[in-house]
Amino acid sequence: MKVLLLGSGGREHALAWKINESERLTTLYVAPGNAGTAGIAENVNIKVTDFEALATFVENNGIEMLVVGPEDPLVEGIRDYFEADARFAHLMIVGPGKAGAILEGSKDFAKEFMIRHHIPTAGYLTVTKENIEDGIDFLKTLKPPYVLKADGLAAGKGVLILNDIEEAKSELRLMLGGKFGKAGNRVVIEEFLSGIELSVFALTDGKDYKILGSAKDYKRIGEGDTGLNTGGMGAVSPVPFADEEFNRKVEERIVRPTIEGFREEGIDYKGFVFFGLMNVAGDPYVIEYNVRMGDPETEVVLPRLKTDILSLFEAMAKGELKQAAFDLDSRFCTTVMLVSQGYPGDYEKGKVITGLENVEGSIVFHAGTKLTDGKVLTNGGRVLAVSSYGDTMKEALTQSYKNVAKIHFEGMNFRRDIGFDL
Ligand code: ATP
Repeated sequence: MKVLLLGSGGREHALAWKINESERLTTLYVAPGNAGTAGIAENVNIKVTDFEALATFVENNGIEMLVVGPEDPLVEGIRDYFEADARFAHLMIVGPGKAGAILEGSKDFAKEFMIRHHIPTAGYLTVTKENIEDGIDFLKTLKPPYVLKADGLAAGKGVLILNDIEEAKSELRLMLGGKFGKAGNRVVIEEFLSGIELSVFALTDGKDYKILGSAKDYKRIGEGDTGLNTGGMGAVSPVPFADEEFNRKVEERIVRPTIEGFREEGIDYKGFVFFGLMNVAGDPYVIEYNVRMGDPETEVVLPRLKTDILSLFEAMAKGELKQAAFDLDSRFCTTVMLVSQGYPGDYEKGKVITGLENVEGSIVFHAGTKLTDGKVLTNGGRVLAVSSYGDTMKEALTQSYKNVAKIHFEGMNFRRDIGFDL
């Protein structure tokens, strides 16, 4: 099977790595990819949202399956674009169409969907410029901290959590006044949920699903979860506190009603679902849906998938996921992210990475890297994810850190406490 994978982060290197293991694969292309994907696939210099150029590439190269890594092309309707063109009638696509991707593209839609299907989530009110006073009144009914969310995609920066009601009121006005551009035309005001966050991942064909496991990522730059938010500094899977009972609640109260919701609403959802959850005293609540895998969670979730991923994707595309074989590794997997000095603020690129050849017993997924004159150079804030297995979480982490010590680039930074709270 000829496969084109879209994206360029650690998530895509992990997807490429897993796809590359498949006996069904003939050729794997990654657009645009990174230095890691270049080692196992052919990188193609096309932007993930340039649908026309992607269509030409798919046609000229006989691509049979398109796997979409990031959310932007999904929310912009890449599936709909290909489905509308008879030349691509046989193309299998991993990722939902616009009707499903709106679950991530509009937080207001996601909240309404959850209410319609009785899926546990925080109480909320959505406001626009027209009813800002209702928003102020709703804020007064809540206890601090106050949660304000821009409705649309805002590159992970559209959520504000504020302790002071006056600040919340003025931020609400600023958001509706254009602080986040169009994404903030509507603002979801939400009740604050107190608990521990985790994510659960599923693959669905719109009728049935396979749960790929739970993961917890570490978003803050500093140890002890301090400092600025990042794209993610590390992750573990499965999450030790997500025991059988908790997982059963997640499946019964959240995963199943979500997939049934797709079916009832006629949403032909074929792809990954990322359930961002809060564990509130043992009960799971949905904080957000994403319509793709997470990064760095993919770097710990996919290594635990034992099943051939292309067979799973094919079963999903054909609507035959129910019968598909599916098996997960019982071991833990952890990843530690190596980042550039200064990240998530300004940082320099182009630092030479050394020591990769000395890594033993871990998988190094590339995030922001590029290959220049045979050298691997840093090319982003998050640079590499060092993933390892272990019979316990601690064993897996020890292995990741052992190999982190063998890798070097100028200004390399990482958190030494991934998993510290579990
Ligand atoms: P990302 O995709 O980067 O996780 P996002 O912009 O899509 O973020 P959310 O995930 O909805 O936004 O919120 C960002 C973070 O804010 C969450 O990961 C969580 O830590 C916190 N948060 C969001 N909603 C709530 C809530 N109701 N109660 C407590 N914390 C919340």
